[in-house]
Amino acid sequence: MEKRITGKTSLYSLIGSPVDHSGSPAMYNYSFEKTGVDAAYLAFDISLEELPDAIAAIKTLKIKGSNVTMPCKSEALKFMDELSPAARIVGAINTMVNENGKLTGHITDGVGFIRNLKEHGVEVKNKKITILGAGGAGTAIQVQCALDGAREISVFNIKDVFYDNALETAKKINMEVPDCIVNVFDLEDTEKLSQEIAGSDILVNSTKVGMHPDENISPIQDVNVFRKNLVVADTVYNPKVTKLLMDAETAGSKTVGGIGMLLWQGAEAFNIYTGLEMPAQEVNELFFK
Ligand code: NAD
Repeated sequence: MEKRITGKTSLYSLIGSPVDHSGSPAMYNYSFEKTGVDAAYLAFDISLEELPDAIAAIKTLKIKGSNVTMPCKSEALKFMDELSPAARIVGAINTMVNENGKLTGHITDGVGFIRNLKEHGVEVKNKKITILGAGGAGTAIQVQCALDGAREISVFNIKDVFYDNALETAKKINMEVPDCIVNVFDLEDTEKLSQEIAGSDILVNSTKVGMHPDENISPIQDVNVFRKNLVVADTVYNPKVTKLLMDAETAGSKTVGGIGMLLWQGAEAFNIYTGLEMPAQEVNELFFK
């Protein structure tokens, strides 16, 4: 690494807090080296209060691009000069590009989710999709599915703050992508949930339910909703195989875990930064297994 760094080496970054656990520096530095890009990547612990100064520093230091993580994803959007269509509808960014002081914001979570499905042979075009959860991940997935041609999306959330978020997003999608029908329901309405899953091609969990240390919990209690021609995808990646996926697999559904979404959202940001494909298979073997 130190042999690669010269006076001409470009810098990319991750900002947010905490970042000390992040796998992004390893993933991007490895990929820069492998693809021959003269760049390095560092993580900076940045609170919301520090965000304006961090954005100014990105411009001053001519940092070429930056990933953005919690808690800065929504606030960072306000500093962008331009936004990708998905970032504009979602209202958050996780990637920014700095072209001579002009900042463009992107969100790659939804693209990563859909690429992960594709890698498992699943397309979203013309499909009906039931999505549990309308937080950060769920919103990005809904928007990208709509932009990529999903026919209908049924969003289920418990009646917490994210329920109102779901209603807002549905309104925006109905305006921006009118061909995609979006409806929002209460996750506690189990009868409606079973009904919507019965008419869906793909079921997605983007709630936190099933995440470590609650591995024994699934957002779906009634395992009768699973069937052979239903694809069940989880965004949770710790554990890699959740109770939801185990139950679905037992019933014969095709299952897709969340770790690939993490890989492919990073690969998409790498492509935005460099115009190159990340060596995803190697990155997967080295950092995600
Ligand atoms: P968030 O805090 O923005 O949203 C949390 C969501 O979980 C909301 O919809 C909330 O209503 C729901 N929820 C919380 N507790 C619940 C409960 N007891 N019952 C039902 N619903 C409940 O979080 P986020 O960033 O959207 O993350 C959600 C999940 O997605 C997490 O497991 C996270 O690890 C995962 N995620 C994965 C990736 C990836 O690349 N694979 C990326 C981002 C997030």
